[in-house]
Amino acid sequence: MSGKRDYYQVLGVSRDATESEIKRAFRSLARRYHPDKNPDDAEAETKFKQVQEAYAVLSNADQRRKYDMFGHDQPGGSPFGPGGFEGINISIDDLFGGGIESIFSQIFSGGRVRRRSRGTDLLVNHEIPFQTVFDGSEESIEIDALKNCEDCKGSGSRTPEGVRECPSCDGRGRIQRIEKAGFFTKQVVTDCSTCRGEGRLVSDPCGTCKGEGRSKKTSQVTFTVPPGISSGTRLRMRGHGEAPRGARGESGDLYIQIEINEHPWFERDGADLLMALPLGFVELALGTQVTIPHPDGADLRIKVPAGSNPGDTINLPGRGLPGGRRGRGSVTVLLKLDMPKKVSKSLRKSLDSLKDEIGTDFDSLEDSMKDEAQRRRRG
Ligand SMILES: [Zn+2]
Ligand SMILES: [Zn+2]
Repeated sequence: MSGKRDYYQVLGVSRDATESEIKRAFRSLARRYHPDKNPDDAEAETKFKQVQEAYAVLSNADQRRKYDMFGHDQPGGSPFGPGGFEGINISIDDLFGGGIESIFSQIFSGGRVRRRSRGTDLLVNHEIPFQTVFDGSEESIEIDALKNCEDCKGSGSRTPEGVRECPSCDGRGRIQRIEKAGFFTKQVVTDCSTCRGEGRLVSDPCGTCKGEGRSKKTSQVTFTVPPGISSGTRLRMRGHGEAPRGARGESGDLYIQIEINEHPWFERDGADLLMALPLGFVELALGTQVTIPHPDGADLRIKVPAGSNPGDTINLPGRGLPGGRRGRGSVTVLLKLDMPKKVSKSLRKSLDSLKDEIGTDFDSLEDSMKDEAQRRRRG
């Protein structure tokens, strides 16, 4: 028996779900668990794979019928071959547009359709100042990546005649063989070992890249950081990753992960900004106006009303970050009481003289405690 979850449950659809219900469920779950949205989240990655596997089987009429009949314990073992399901590299764009059908329909077609060969994706971190979240910017970075060798145009061969089709796989890069599994036979497809899956052999290697067809190259990549961007966002630069082997297939993508430097006093909550404003007892009691510079260019004027308490907040709508659901977010100012660090003799004397007026009234202390508790409980 297999401990795997039921494919219908994985997609959250009923056993008689229609094709389009299955597709809809898959798209929505795949978007939720996509690695781009859940960086470094192993659980999301597992779910992403499970959802793909369930969709691969249930979207294929033939496989779905077999699954309905036998469940996970199909005669002949996993339909994905001895290694089981390995996951598919789907971009998040594909989940919004079209294109997923053709990727999935290739899985059970026995390798007749050539697998897409792609260069490796690259991931780099890029720090930006906090100010950029307000303004957005054009950024430029240097990337070291394997690119097609210019001397041989990526072929790896010194001369065009120096490349020949691999005789072991007839240039397909893959080898098919028939395997017996119980009463059933099935087709197994593996990479050709003679040509390492490239489908071609180089007899006269290019001197610059030693037949590899690729070499490390430094290039400048420019990109736009939109205002309101969050830390951890990955910008995808299509085709700016590594070149594929043998100059066939497409280049990988470059992902630029944005890290935003901290602001000296603001914390960020989506498009909202939070800050603490430490004021003395006198300013809280009598009220005051505080003016501080603000990243949007206009000074932030904070009016503190007389009789303010530490813990009170002042909200300044429309002064937060751009890119919020309803336009710009707000700035929330949390008032704090800034106590004197040192009490000098003369200050002690002055404070002592004010005790009767503004000190604690011990006769009504219990009442104040009750009031305070009531306020707190009401929230
Ligand atoms: Zn071969
Ligand atoms: Zn070369």
